[in-house]
Amino acid sequence: AQVYLNGEFVPVEEAKVSVLDRGFLFGDGVYEVIPVFAGKPLQEDAHMERLYRSLDAIELELSQTPEDFHGMFTRLLELNKESAKHLTIYLQITRGVVEKRAHGFPEKPTPTVFAMTIPLEPNIRTSLDEAPTGRAITQKDRRWQRCDIKSTSLLGNLISFQKAYREGMAESILIDCKGRVTEGASSNVFAIIGDRIITPPLSKRILGGITRALVLEIATRDGCYLCEERQLKVEELREASEIWITSSNREILPIVELDGAAVGAGNPGEVWRHIAGLYRIYRDQVPEINDD
Ligand code: PLP
Repeated sequence: AQVYLNGEFVPVEEAKVSVLDRGFLFGDGVYEVIPVFAGKPLQEDAHMERLYRSLDAIELELSQTPEDFHGMFTRLLELNKESAKHLTIYLQITRGVVEKRAHGFPEKPTPTVFAMTIPLEPNIRTSLDEAPTGRAITQKDRRWQRCDIKSTSLLGNLISFQKAYREGMAESILIDCKGRVTEGASSNVFAIIGDRIITPPLSKRILGGITRALVLEIATRDGCYLCEERQLKVEELREASEIWITSSNREILPIVELDGAAVGAGNPGEVWRHIAGLYRIYRDQVPEINDD
């Protein structure tokens, strides 16, 4: 595979970063994961906006513009188009290499910019009848208070996810100290309660998922169900008729079991089928619209 590192495209084996890179020393960096369908990044503008918001939040300025990134992505996808039908672009920017390890931000950083492609799960385009489902557990949200920054420092998320992972589950759903759902270890959470689609509101305690926003937009435009962005108690989650997790990698994944108990009938629900169907239509139409 060919990857991008600081202005060059090189085979992955040849891409090397110094041990004095602040990304390595401190996890001092931010990232994006952009799904690519039929060669076109989905929601690229939204991902770029979030990237620059993350960079602002960590006071890191870049000379590259979103247009520069667009050009780089195009070349990267071209170089890797044989590797899989559908890919994601992983883009990471750190505060770069320093002379010595010190906490304070360097005055004139030279950011390390890295991008690679990762094959998307092959099951992502199967029919809705064959679409994957997952089980989840709840875990205390022990992360920091700026989860809105898409930081590469992910230890809190990793530790939370590990118990679910060991047990073969799809996700750990995180619960704050007041018993409210925040998000998944690497996803946003939706619950169906009555005829409403509910997801926790944007705040510094969650990452504003691009998939979350798209699902809300599609569901609102469709109008069959009411959408509510509001606090969601874990007890309500346990009573929900459907639970979904959303992310760029997993789209809208129905959770059929939570902490060992069936969610609804223990199958993907009707609301999921409706919204996931609309999501796929949107996703698969975008490339054609862009081709005009
Ligand atoms: N929340 C967290 C903590 C994540 O890591 C992710 C994605 O990996 C998401 C939410 C979903 O974000 P997106 O839909 O932009 O992929």
